[in-house]
Amino acid sequence: MALIVHKYGGTSMGSTERIRNVAKRVAKWVRAGHQLVVVPSAMSGETNRLLGLAKELSGTPSARELDMIAATGEQVSSGLLAIALQAEGLESVSYAGWQVPIKTDSSFTKARIESIDDVRVRADLAAGKVVVITGFQGVSPEGHITTLGRGGSDTSAVAVAAAMKADECLIYTDVDGVYTTDPRVVPEARRLNTVSFEEMLEMASLGSKVLQIRSVEFAGKYRVPLRVLSSFTPWDIDLDEEAKSGTLISFEEDENMEQAVVSGIAFNRDEAKITVVGVPDTPGIAYQIVGKVADANIDVDVIIQNVSHDGKTDFSFTVHRNDFQRTMDLLQKDVQPTLGAKEIVGDPKICKVSIVGIGMRSHAGIASTMFKTLSDEGINIQMITTSEIKTSVVIDEKYMELAVRALHKAFGLDEQKA
Ligand code: ADP
Ligand code: ASP
Ligand code: MG
Repeated sequence: MALIVHKYGGTSMGSTERIRNVAKRVAKWVRAGHQLVVVPSAMSGETNRLLGLAKELSGTPSARELDMIAATGEQVSSGLLAIALQAEGLESVSYAGWQVPIKTDSSFTKARIESIDDVRVRADLAAGKVVVITGFQGVSPEGHITTLGRGGSDTSAVAVAAAMKADECLIYTDVDGVYTTDPRVVPEARRLNTVSFEEMLEMASLGSKVLQIRSVEFAGKYRVPLRVLSSFTPWDIDLDEEAKSGTLISFEEDENMEQAVVSGIAFNRDEAKITVVGVPDTPGIAYQIVGKVADANIDVDVIIQNVSHDGKTDFSFTVHRNDFQRTMDLLQKDVQPTLGAKEIVGDPKICKVSIVGIGMRSHAGIASTMFKTLSDEGINIQMITTSEIKTSVVIDEKYMELAVRALHKAFGLDEQKA
């Protein structure tokens, strides 16, 4: 008997028919003798719908109330799943985050899980129940409902698995594993049987939304065996076959791991670029710009400072697109006058495309292949950033798909058609 955590994403929970299928799949695992905790997302489209309602009423809705609203999506899907499980003849109970409780910090809309109390859940499991726990939400030290950021149900599931020392956490989604890149953008993308933890961490942080970054961090910290697989296979396929399907996130570099230099291509169109033009090239400038932005709780990603001409330089960086206007306003109001900068220019229509692979550590010339591929397609690179196992470029958003396809091909990642 093993303790298994299943997570089902929005599309997998998208209708009562699909929820019934989820219940049948879970029942199969229970009847094979396992204890099951199931973490569902809201039904597909529901979180967007809820947040959209708030935006109809205010351009600047309060983060606390947004969490109050968005958390209802998961509460509905959890209750529905418990009912579907009961209809399958299983005993089941659902809990909202605060009932477990899943304790978080107080950063509304992007809260971090601090601890999970598993006493109640263990008692239910011991009594033979399937426990359903809402994804995406928790409770702050002050007792307010919080949410974990978009895609946060992955993190709920892995955190529950970590807290309960589950034997495995299975992330069921609408694709059958982790691919070399988003298969919806590149149809030739290949599914990986295993992906190293480090590569998965980079891919998630660089925009591959198949797993939320924090779920991968949790899996690494607590060594949670983690697998991404399809919820769209027939629910009655052989359990052992299902248990081996999809993509395993691997913590060891094992022999069977695919040995490509570049393992995947990630992209992110959620960023925007801002340039502070004509600032004096003196000590403390980067701090005065980035420090002000950080004080406003805005994350800065790629940063570039140019060589100076006549003692003046340009300073560019990227922020999340949602923070674009706020950052522009802040720089125009507080930073431009103090620094005597010539102007602040912004471009929200950029994207970041990255190649990721642990093989890059030991191979030279990978970045230059990337730059040549983009140049052959006539794509201008605006910013570049590298680390040991990735190279990212910022380009015009309109070339994103072209860039991803060309790089996927150039690094030999396309599926070999028979
Ligand atoms: P869920 O609702 O199940 O959490 P998401 O939409 O959050 O599903 O994540 C799954 C989606 O992630 C896929 O439908 C796919 O379009 C996208 N995706 C992006 N990058 C990748 C990748 N490298 N491999 C697989 N899927 C990816
Ligand atoms: N429902 C939330 C969202 O849409 C959380 C999730 O799906 O993981 O972001
Ligand atoms: Mg998701």
